[in-house]
Amino acid sequence: MARTRDADLLATYKAKRDFAKTPEPGPKRARKKGNSFVIQKHAARRTHFDFRLEHDGVLKSWAVTRGPSLDPSQKRLAVRTEDHPLEYGGFEGVIPKGEYGGGPVMIWDEGTWEPIGDPDEGLAKGDFKFRLNGKRLKGDYVLVRMKKDRTGGKRENWLLIKKRDAYAGDGNEPTEKYDTSVKTGRTMAEIETGEDSAVWSSNKAQKKTPTRAKRAATAKTKPKAKPKPKPKRRAKS
Ligand code: MN
Repeated sequence: MARTRDADLLATYKAKRDFAKTPEPGPKRARKKGNSFVIQKHAARRTHFDFRLEHDGVLKSWAVTRGPSLDPSQKRLAVRTEDHPLEYGGFEGVIPKGEYGGGPVMIWDEGTWEPIGDPDEGLAKGDFKFRLNGKRLKGDYVLVRMKKDRTGGKRENWLLIKKRDAYAGDGNEPTEKYDTSVKTGRTMAEIETGEDSAVWSSNKAQKKTPTRAKRAATAKTKPKAKPKPKPKRRAKS
């Protein structure tokens, strides 16, 4: 897979969203090379787990309907979704109702990954092997692309499968074990109702932007910190 220009990789991401209405990050591609991954639990129309691996300055993304498993007998449907900006990996908060993907988003796991073999070849062939080093998920996985369905397949369906290794376990379902944010400890309900719910935990992709100071300040705000004296609130209507 050749390196594509910025506009191409994030064009779909941009087209699907109105950035005046959603707190999600803009379609900016990172110049830095890194190997982060993030899994975001997302209670949209249907709850799913968005699995995102940093590659080529963006987050390659799949929506895993039932979430990742540590049980090698489980083959989890992973629908390929549009590349997301790197900055998205730090997003935990609420996408407003009526907007694309409306609902709360939780940072469920994060860490680094490494390819097993050539990642571009793996992605192109539909046999993509990698190792995760997350806080909740570790070890070797493979994403296998399924043949297109009879409708011609608007969606690209893949299967996310755990390989047998020291981290694998029959019946081991981390999404049942952990239901809070790995970043802030909040539940989905707390994210949904929380004041100032958007938490920007990562700004590595946006150094030198005008909003850096603001975002850094937000990132330092711990959810359980004592509230600072606030300026007078506007009267509620
Ligand atoms: Mn999603």
